[in-house]
Amino acid sequence: MGRTGDFSKRTIRELAEAAAHACARCGQVTSYFDPALGKRVGYGRGAHIRAASSAGPRGDELYEPEQLKAADNGVHLCANCADLIDKDPGRYSVPYLQGLQQEAERRSRLAVLQPGGVNRGLLTSEQAHRVSTFIDRTTRCLFQLVLYRNHSGWVGYWPWLEANHARSFSGECAHIRHLAHPLCANSPHAVDIQVRVVESVGSLFDKVSNAPWHFDETSAAFRLDAASQFGAGREQANAAGELADSYRRDIYRLTSDLGAMTNGGSGRLIGAFS
Ligand SMILES: [Zn+2]
Repeated sequence: MGRTGDFSKRTIRELAEAAAHACARCGQVTSYFDPALGKRVGYGRGAHIRAASSAGPRGDELYEPEQLKAADNGVHLCANCADLIDKDPGRYSVPYLQGLQQEAERRSRLAVLQPGGVNRGLLTSEQAHRVSTFIDRTTRCLFQLVLYRNHSGWVGYWPWLEANHARSFSGECAHIRHLAHPLCANSPHAVDIQVRVVESVGSLFDKVSNAPWHFDETSAAFRLDAASQFGAGREQANAAGELADSYRRDIYRLTSDLGAMTNGGSGRLIGAFS
């Protein structure tokens, strides 16, 4: 006996067809036609956005069974992604999942109406705009971060103003997976990269605001200077410089990947880091 909010077979099939039989999150094809059986064999899922019962993931007791079993409460996913969104419902919110299905339906329409006009890796102009803004904000955080290695070791310098901007930027982007977030690119792949950039920016700030970095009042900047240290102190300072540089390189690489997804804007955005 199914729960009252369960989807009908017809709704599950409609969600799959609207998404062109591909997972709305990862793009995995979810069915094939078997000539021997004379029918399509599917292993996709019609996943609930708000759970069929109020105790389930993203459950909402204000929703009636009729609303819970309606197609607009569903998203077509592969079995893996369907599992994932229910294991971590805090991360995969209602608006995010609604956006996945809408985006999958839009892609499948464009694939027919504009042959050759759809490239899975590229973003729509609205998504690209959000990505460009996100990259501009990231660039601004790192603009005055100086990190280099001289003959005695690593030297680092990050003005408090920019470093503090990085800290508040990573805080502001804590909920960037939610579609309502003004910087959310609303494309699962782009959002995943954005989340990794935000984590790296936050970690970079944590590293430079702790020893062996120190805050220099006169220049109002976080500083690291391996040459002024001796023995174990110098080793620590060099390790800290190396680590900060690896964060910085990660951020540049990830934002280049993001920039490449915006197509037209990519040259300028990648160029900003070269
Ligand atoms: Zn999937």
